[in-house]
Amino acid sequence: MTHEELEDAVPLYAVGALERTERQVLEAHLLSGCLACHASLKEHQSVAVLLPFSLTLTQPPRAIKAKIMAARTPAAAAESVTQPPNKPSLEPGEWMNHLFPPDEPSPASLFTWVTGVVLLALLAGGGYFAWDSYTRIAEDTTKLAQLQTELDRTRSALAERDRSLTASREDIQRRTSDVAALKDQLIQREAELDDAQAQLALRGGPPLRAPQDELGLLLRTPDVKAIPMAGTTMAKPAAGMLLFDARTKKAWLYAVNLPACPDGATYQVWAVYEKPVSVGLFCVNNGDTSHLFVTPLPNFKNAKQFIVSLEPVGGRSELSGPVYLSSQLP
Ligand SMILES: [Zn+2]
Repeated sequence: MTHEELEDAVPLYAVGALERTERQVLEAHLLSGCLACHASLKEHQSVAVLLPFSLTLTQPPRAIKAKIMAARTPAAAAESVTQPPNKPSLEPGEWMNHLFPPDEPSPASLFTWVTGVVLLALLAGGGYFAWDSYTRIAEDTTKLAQLQTELDRTRSALAERDRSLTASREDIQRRTSDVAALKDQLIQREAELDDAQAQLALRGGPPLRAPQDELGLLLRTPDVKAIPMAGTTMAKPAAGMLLFDARTKKAWLYAVNLPACPDGATYQVWAVYEKPVSVGLFCVNNGDTSHLFVTPLPNFKNAKQFIVSLEPVGGRSELSGPVYLSSQLP
């Protein structure tokens, strides 16, 4: 604006009819200290104060009023109310108020305020987010711990079952192998038994199966001497066979049809040298038709005769009872 334009604007300023931009330019000019414009403003203001009283009030057309109201912002309207155009004076402080209207917050303070609000919102939001996250993490951690505990429990239960199953399996395997071992042992024992029986039969040991079979085996063995024995008048159907195995120095007396021993009595075998010498005792039970008696007999070859007598239980040192079997004298 030229100075002339500024001078022309002063009366409009005095009645508050300038637009904001023009008003601010004029105010800046007045602040710069132009005495002419200052004097002109004072003059016009003194007149402007009186203007309302000299005017006759007329009702403006409604359309114009509406147009004016629409053109003005609510802030401007408020400003016009708080700042009437008929200011009595224009002190420097008020000029500053014109330049920096106090009812309008400065962009800087507005920015600060907005920033503060935003920061507060951010802080609140961040705090909520942190709290929410912390709560969720805590919940998740608790759930995870519970799941972990459950998993551990299930795992240990499974391990326990697995151990139990393994133990059962091992037990079954052990028992199976035990049975197999026992079976093997049994087979081996049977084989050993067969072998031992065969050996015994060959050597002239006691019979483990049918005495006849053992006796038959013994009879076929070399170095076995056989001495027949006959029943005396005490037992005519009785008979016997005394076998001597030279390798084992054992005598085998196989007796048949001897009567069962009465109570308190026993059969006693004698080898007769100069006189009868006891070789051993045996008993025949009721129902037995045969009996095999085996005894060591180192001095077989010097014996002249063999005798079986019936003696009291425990036997006697000398032949005293009735004779039942006797070898034929040579
Ligand atoms: Zn001027």
